[in-house]
Amino acid sequence: MSRGETSVGPAGRIAMTAMVWLRRDLRRADLPLLAAAHEHSGGAPVKVVFVLDPVFLEGAGAARTAWLAATLLALRQSYEGRLTLLEGDATEVIPRVASAGGITSVHVSTETEPGGADRDRQVARALGRVGVEWVETGSPYAVTPGRVRTKAGGPHGTFSSFARTWVEHGWRAPAEEPADLALAPDASDQGAWARVERLLRAPGAPELPPAGEVAAHERWSQFLADDLDGYSTQRDRADLAATSQLSPHLKFGVLHPRTLLADLAPRPGQGAERFRTELAWREFYADVLHHHPGSLTGDLRPALAGMAYDPDGDHVEAWRRGRTGFPLVDAGMRQLLATGWMHNRVRMVTASFLTKDLHVWWPIGAQWFLDHLVDGDLASNTHGWQWVAGTGTDAAPYFRVFNPVKQGLTHDPQGDYVRRWVPELAHLAGDLVHQPWEASDGYAHGYPTRIIDHADERREALARLEMARHA
Ligand code: FAD
Repeated sequence: MSRGETSVGPAGRIAMTAMVWLRRDLRRADLPLLAAAHEHSGGAPVKVVFVLDPVFLEGAGAARTAWLAATLLALRQSYEGRLTLLEGDATEVIPRVASAGGITSVHVSTETEPGGADRDRQVARALGRVGVEWVETGSPYAVTPGRVRTKAGGPHGTFSSFARTWVEHGWRAPAEEPADLALAPDASDQGAWARVERLLRAPGAPELPPAGEVAAHERWSQFLADDLDGYSTQRDRADLAATSQLSPHLKFGVLHPRTLLADLAPRPGQGAERFRTELAWREFYADVLHHHPGSLTGDLRPALAGMAYDPDGDHVEAWRRGRTGFPLVDAGMRQLLATGWMHNRVRMVTASFLTKDLHVWWPIGAQWFLDHLVDGDLASNTHGWQWVAGTGTDAAPYFRVFNPVKQGLTHDPQGDYVRRWVPELAHLAGDLVHQPWEASDGYAHGYPTRIIDHADERREALARLEMARHA
């Protein structure tokens, strides 16, 4: 069938050829695009594609590249092999394949990250020129960024007001897949999937957890059964696996937050409430980035524009490698390098250490995280960093300087987390591991001494803040 040509589909409806282009929605369950494309195609087989775009691969780092590869291979199984892998610059590949394949509509979920939104505008324009419809249905969020507004119609500046309005706004129930959905066969170029398999072994990639929808749903069920009840009290404990660890799946849309919210709805209690709040943080940061795309590379709030920062150098390198001499910081940075993931509390402590103890501007740390996180997400990472640095949405911004030792004693009380990631300290019992300088054999196995004095650098940070505020 040539482009624009129609035929009669299985249900006697006029058939068009619809294409679903998956990006941050690498799943089959709860995917409203499928129903939209099915409707458009009049029951004729829908072509489902993913574009392996060098733009993504260049910005991802080994961990996230390998995670994407594992997720794609699992996704192929979700679609019973009926998934076409395209390669190249999506702005060129999608219009070319749509044109050549007689596609009449391309279905996507709305992308609101600045780069992706830009790409989509280009693709939609190119498709428009060849008469192919561009249809956006849903987004990677429960509520599409930009929709939760203040009474005056503007964006929310603080999390608490956003979260309240987000709950009031509400979200749809999970989407059902049409019972008679038909999928077009895989038309990938020869060798395309073999190239994905090679990406699994990207040099430097860490050992990864099981990928794909089945694994993600299993992890979610296990979390609901074992950890939800204690989540509100245990989530800050670095030594316990008390959080869902779903962020890598949410990153690529293997699970949709709508699915999680629907499962939480019938469960009363503080655990469910707290988990909903954490999902709201993800939505808030996406909303902030949507309204302020410039915040990807510069301070959200200009208040600290005059701040004096130190350059990248030996201290930053010690931070990157987990050799600062502060056990909790080093454990976190080594967990990141070893697994591509880090506990949220430890992300805050390590980010505070870089920005407040080493006086380094947050984008240097944010880039390192993005290079190494499996769940590396532009909105959550940028605004997690800006929150800690005091340039973002924290209502009590710069004065908060985490004490890395006290944080260790509170959130890793028996020291198990540090011992797991810092073998040079494994011989120290209990919470002594957070203060090796107090033990006669604290440095017996080559652990580095502290690169700075925290009390001095805290004073220095606050002094610089004072100067910046009066600059
Ligand atoms: P859970 O506690 O089980 O929470 C469930 C889900 O809620 C998470 O998977 C995540 O989607 C969302 N969530 C929880 N806390 C936050 C938060 N503070 N901000 C936004 N969403 C949240 N998260 C990312 O997904 N990608 C990132 O690149 C990222 N970078 C961060 C950088 C810094 C400096 C900080 C302080 C936080 C960052 N976060 C990031 C947020 C948070 O650390 C992770 O989402 C969380 O640790 C993931 O673990 P989990 O899935 O077990 O979380």
